[in-house]
Amino acid sequence: MKIHEYQAKRLMAARGIAVPEGRVATTPEEAVAAVRPLVEASGSPVVVVKSQIHAGGRGKGRFKEHADLGGVTVVTDGIQGGVEAAEAKVRSLAEQMLGSTLVTIQTGPEGKAVNRLYVEQGVAIARELYLSVVLDRATGRNLMMASTEGGTEIEEVAAETPEKILRETIDPAVGLADFQARRLALGLGLEGDALKNGVRFMKALAAFASDLDTDLIEINPLVVTESGDVMALDGKMGFDDNALARHPDVAELRDETEENAAELEAKEFGLSFIKLDGSIGCLVNGAGLAMATMDTIKQVGGEPANFLDVGGGATTENVTAAFKIITRDPNVKGIFVNIFGGIMKCDTIADGVVAAVKEVGLQVPLVVRLEGTNVELGKKIIDESGLNVVSATDMKDGAQKIVEAAR
Ligand code: ADP
Ligand code: MG
Repeated sequence: MKIHEYQAKRLMAARGIAVPEGRVATTPEEAVAAVRPLVEASGSPVVVVKSQIHAGGRGKGRFKEHADLGGVTVVTDGIQGGVEAAEAKVRSLAEQMLGSTLVTIQTGPEGKAVNRLYVEQGVAIARELYLSVVLDRATGRNLMMASTEGGTEIEEVAAETPEKILRETIDPAVGLADFQARRLALGLGLEGDALKNGVRFMKALAAFASDLDTDLIEINPLVVTESGDVMALDGKMGFDDNALARHPDVAELRDETEENAAELEAKEFGLSFIKLDGSIGCLVNGAGLAMATMDTIKQVGGEPANFLDVGGGATTENVTAAFKIITRDPNVKGIFVNIFGGIMKCDTIADGVVAAVKEVGLQVPLVVRLEGTNVELGKKIIDESGLNVVSATDMKDGAQKIVEAAR
C-alpha cells in the first residue's frame, strides 16, 4: 500500500525524523490559510505548494489543463511582497491545481487528478541527496541506499553512474549499525553538524522501515540545509500489505481514490488482480499458473491484459465477478480461461463463466482450457451452454488460439 507524501512526513515527524513543517489543503481557502502560520514558524517567507498524488516526478510533471504549471511550485513572492503576496500566489496556484490532472513520468499519459495539496515551508537547500530503504529480495533484508545525486531518478543514476550509489544491508537484529551510518554519511561527503545529523537521520529511518514493515522508503531529495540540518524534503513510502494488520494506524492512511478501481473491486471478491497493458484477459487459478499463463501468452506473441488468480476456494460468484472485471477493460480483445482443477473444481469455473457471459455478454473471443477435478463435467457445462467458446487441449494450445483469435 502506498501513502501520500504528507502522510509519510507525519509518520516520520512522529518518530523524530526531521521534515519541514506543512499543512494539507483540499480547497484554495485552506491553502491560503496555511501560509501565514508556516511563514511565522519558519521565519522564511518562502513556501512550497505540492500536489499530493501516489506518484513521483511531480516537480517535472505538468498539468493537462495548465501546460506551464508543474506539480511542485516554490513560491518566492513573499520575499519581496510579504505574506500577502505569498498568499495571493498560493491562492492562484491552488485554484489551478485542485481538480486538475497531473501527468508525470510515473503516472502514465492519463495522469492523476490532484485533490489535495501540501503547503510546506520553503527550505534553504545547500545540498540535495538521495536516501532509500528497500527490501532486498536477494538477502531478504532491508537495504539502505544513498547517493549524492539527489533530485535525479535513481534508475538513471543506477544506469549511468552505478558507482555513485552507496549500499548498506541492515541486519534485522541490530538495525543500521553506527559504523554503517557513518560510512554512508561520510561517503556522501557530510561533515560537522551535517555528519552528526545525517547519521541520526539514517539510523532513525532504518528503524522506521523495520518497525512499520515498509517495502520501500525513498527520500529524494534528502537535503542538507544551509545551517547543517538534514531533513526529508520528499517522502515516498510503500507498506507490505500482509503486515498491515499489525499497523492499524498505517492501514487507515489508505486512499482508495488513488488505487485502480478494478483492483479494488477484485480485492472485495478475494481475487488477486493486477491490471496490465496488453489485450489478452486471463482468468486463472493459482498464482504460479497465472504467471506461467502470462509467460506463455507472451511466448506466442501476445500481451496479457491482467494478472488474475481466482484462488483455490472461488465460488461461482467470484468467477462471475472476475469475468466482469476482465470484460470491462476496453483493451481486452480476447479472454483465456486457464484452470487446473485441484481444490477448485472445473465445473465451478464452468458455471461461473457461463453465468457471467449470460449476464454481461461476450464481445470478444473466449478460449477455455480445463484440466483436473471434474473436468468432464466442466466441459459438458460449457459445451451445452451454446456459447461460442473455443476449447484448448493444453496451456500452449490455448495461448496460441486466443492470441490468434484476438488478432
Ligand atoms: P517530486 O520528486 O515528486 O518531483 P519533490 O518533493 O522531490 O517532488 O519536489 C521536487 C523538488 O522541489 C525537490 O527536488 C526540491 O528541489 C523542491 N522542493 C520540494 N519541497 C521543497 C521545500 N519544502 N523547500 C524547498 N524546495 C523544495
Ligand atoms: Mg522527489
